[in-house]
Amino acid sequence: MITSWISDRQHVRHHMGAGHPESPERLAAIEQRLNASGVLHHAVQFAARPATDEQILQVHSAQYWQQLLHQTPAEEGELTALTSDTLLTPWSVEAARMAAGAAIRGIDQLYRGQADNVFCAVRPPGHHAERSGAMGFCLINNVAIAAAHARLVYGVERIAILDFDVHQCNGTIDIFRHDPGVLVCSSFQEGLFPQRYHQAPSANVINTPLAEGSNGDALLAAIEREWLPALERHRPQLICISAGFDAHRDDPLGGLSLSGTDFHRISRLLVSLAGEYSEGRLLSVLEGGYEMNALAEGVEAHLAALLDMPWSPAS
Ligand SMILES: [Zn+2]
Repeated sequence: MITSWISDRQHVRHHMGAGHPESPERLAAIEQRLNASGVLHHAVQFAARPATDEQILQVHSAQYWQQLLHQTPAEEGELTALTSDTLLTPWSVEAARMAAGAAIRGIDQLYRGQADNVFCAVRPPGHHAERSGAMGFCLINNVAIAAAHARLVYGVERIAILDFDVHQCNGTIDIFRHDPGVLVCSSFQEGLFPQRYHQAPSANVINTPLAEGSNGDALLAAIEREWLPALERHRPQLICISAGFDAHRDDPLGGLSLSGTDFHRISRLLVSLAGEYSEGRLLSVLEGGYEMNALAEGVEAHLAALLDMPWSPAS
């Protein structure tokens, strides 16, 4: 079993200001914990390569991409606000290219037999980025760009994108809502940002809202009730995961109540689904998670599941 870990060091230059929760410290906290525990050493580590314009334009409008390029500030220290919480620094577009490029490299590794599954430790996150708009700390939609790449280059016809971030993946839904080849399943805390696509716009979109305070048992039961039948109908040849860890009970932005153990259980289920449907092919891309210890714990538990390793909070 080869689990690939793909990241990029230059993301630190995408810094949206003091106090912004989507900070470079997120990836530092993850790497620190996973190096200390040794879990990261079981994965094979790779560097991201930048996504090309053509790859990004598979899922984003040319007008939006040009807007990002044109609004990028020239001077170090300058910021352009795209929304109240999503800002461009001079380096942001390049950081976003590397995040999407990590996911693309992961797809290439899966289809060239270089990895059984892949985790992309990247930022900025992507799942709120719609076809023509930035939102919720996201500039371009990393997992959607990866799915489009898998289809275009490897001819993958049926893909599932499974998102367990505490927020609904409005961007991924926006991009694939008229695309029956891509099943999008999104669990999220009811009533939370982004408040888009309340009604699933088409049969290939499964919204799974959870009441505030819901725990891992509730999420697992909802996945079994709502995602498993959809997956059985869709029979995906590739499983992509938008792995957000802001459903952790200690996260300041979310009000769900998951533990590290819950992330391990859910991740093991998703790995087993990949074994059942997609010859194990699973690409996981980091989304949210804003409490440093909780984020690092969640990623460690998730990676352990990808590695087919046991995990406990003390590990
Ligand atoms: Zn989130």
